Parts: sequence; C-alpha cells; structure tokens
Amino acid sequence: MTTTGSCMCGNIRYQFTGEPAVTALCHCIDCQKWTGGAFTSNAVVPRTAFSVTQGTPNSYDAVGASGKINKHFFCPNCGSSLYTELEVMPDMTCVKAGGLDGGAANLGNKIGVEFYVKDRPQYLQPCEGAKQEPQFG
Ligand SMILES: [Zn+2]
Ligand SMILES: [Zn+2]
Repeated sequence: MTTTGSCMCGNIRYQFTGEPAVTALCHCIDCQKWTGGAFTSNAVVPRTAFSVTQGTPNSYDAVGASGKINKHFFCPNCGSSLYTELEVMPDMTCVKAGGLDGGAANLGNKIGVEFYVKDRPQYLQPCEGAKQEPQFG
C-alpha cells in the first residue's frame, strides 16, 4: 500500500509505503506556531518507507524540549508544512497528515497517542482511545 501527499501548490510530492507505525496528534507550541493550527496530526512512518518524489523541500531546525534538533520540512513555494525528522527518533519520519491525498488525512479516524496535551486548547476533547501524554513520551 502506498500513500501519497503533497503541499498546497503541488510543487512537492511525497509518499510512504505500508501502514504508519503510529498515528499521533501533537499539541505542542512549536506545532501550533509552525502550522498556524491548534495541533499537528501525524502519520509516523519508518524513514526507509518515506520518500520525496517531486521537488525539494526547505527545512528549518527547531531545538526541541529535549535540546535535540527537530527538522521541519516545508514547501519553499507555498510554505505548506510537510513532515518532520526528530533527532530523538532517528529512524522515523513524522508526516503531517493534512497533506495526504485521497482522504488519508483522516488517518483512518484512529489516533494512537496525543502528545503535549498540556498545551491542548480546552475546546478540544481527547480522542477516544488515544494515549494521553502531558509532553513527549
Ligand atoms: Zn507548495
Ligand atoms: Zn508538536
């Protein structure tokens, strides 16, 4: 199974094969700032299963709470937030699910874990069945 995605303008296209290892929402302040939204929704996949198939994203290095680098990849043309590579998770890619094609943005309507729920707005409810982490892990 191959899942494809793109930025808003279509300059960057990417894909991953297989099912995500985990589906996760992240409510941290960096995710809010980076996307302009209340949280990010993520398909966490092995880096070996992920590839950019068109275009070259730019990246921005943010220093996470761990002190390690969180690399943020985005479209240089339209600015869409695409995926992150965390130094603390060297084997995984966190694909921002909003960019996925064909309805895959809903992550199968199953969220495995929510991170940084301490920063989650009060107007949102916890996802049913999702592990609730006050911060990361
Ligand atoms: Zn774009
Ligand atoms: Zn986050």
